[in-house]
Amino acid sequence: MKPAPFAYKKARVLEEAVALLGEHEEARLLAGGQSLIATLNMRLSQPSLLIDINGISGLDGITLKSGTVEIDALVRHAQAERSDVVAKNAPLIARALPHIGHPAIRNRGTLGGSIAFADPAAELPACLLALDGEVEAMGPKGKRAIKAEDFFKGLFETALGPQEVLTAIRVPAAGKDTRAGFAELARRHGDYAIVGLAACARADGKGLKDVRLAYFGVGATPLRAKKAETALANGNIDGAVAALDFAPQDDVQATGAVKKHLAGVLLRRVAGQLMEPA
Ligand code: FAD
Repeated sequence: MKPAPFAYKKARVLEEAVALLGEHEEARLLAGGQSLIATLNMRLSQPSLLIDINGISGLDGITLKSGTVEIDALVRHAQAERSDVVAKNAPLIARALPHIGHPAIRNRGTLGGSIAFADPAAELPACLLALDGEVEAMGPKGKRAIKAEDFFKGLFETALGPQEVLTAIRVPAAGKDTRAGFAELARRHGDYAIVGLAACARADGKGLKDVRLAYFGVGATPLRAKKAETALANGNIDGAVAALDFAPQDDVQATGAVKKHLAGVLLRRVAGQLMEPA
């Protein structure tokens, strides 16, 4: 199918993108296009205007400052995959990136687009939540930061206002005691996950503390499993599996019961990763 007709404008600066969003109610930002173009072609979305943000400079950096890793919105998945800053300081994101689609998709798709699109089966929103990260957004009143736990509101729904552009994500840099765990189950490598789990913790003697588990593919948004986190911090893996308290809906990939079972399988795998030094 072909998309419905739309106008196209290339924004040169962030302020121009924000202004265009204000002037056109049915406008959409175009970043890597890896999700948006498919929704246009299937006519799931029929915007009157596409605002291309790819020409805006200063949105493609990866920096480490004051214990925080900042990844700008237009950083491509492939660029982050090759980044030493990400590998050393954001190991959870480094582990998750190769699971996103295929190389051609990762060459174009952006981290900002992935977070803003908020697909419930996507890897990066769950990583942002597990890492207790935040999103930076720019709107008509300037920039603001939104905590990950306040950002994902519902199915493909975020806290971004209609005139806001996501400009960067920020996560705390990993320390010596940081542990990261990531696993997903998909029918084929590169497919969206049936269920996935992004996790982080800090080593505490032979155990763990500050465990954060964020599942994807089990609800409308990435979901923390807080009771399981507590059990895992107490070294009780069976208890953590038993404490998983979400009830996934059936979807095209699997029944809710199968997803719940797989969530327990992933928890055991990820618990093993968290116990290993990075
Ligand atoms: P776009 O497609 O350009 O935009 C997506 C949405 O986000 C649009 O609504 C757009 O307006 C909005 N948006 C984009 N940037 C911003 C911004 N800076 N501020 C505010 N809003 C913005 N993704 C996964 O996570 N896991 C997968 O396994 C996976 N598999 C895929 C397989 C295939 C075959 C394909 C085609 C895609 C797959 N994707 C997967 C999607 C891919 O990761 C996308 O790159 C990503 O979801 C969106 O990023 P984008 O830059 O392409 O955004």
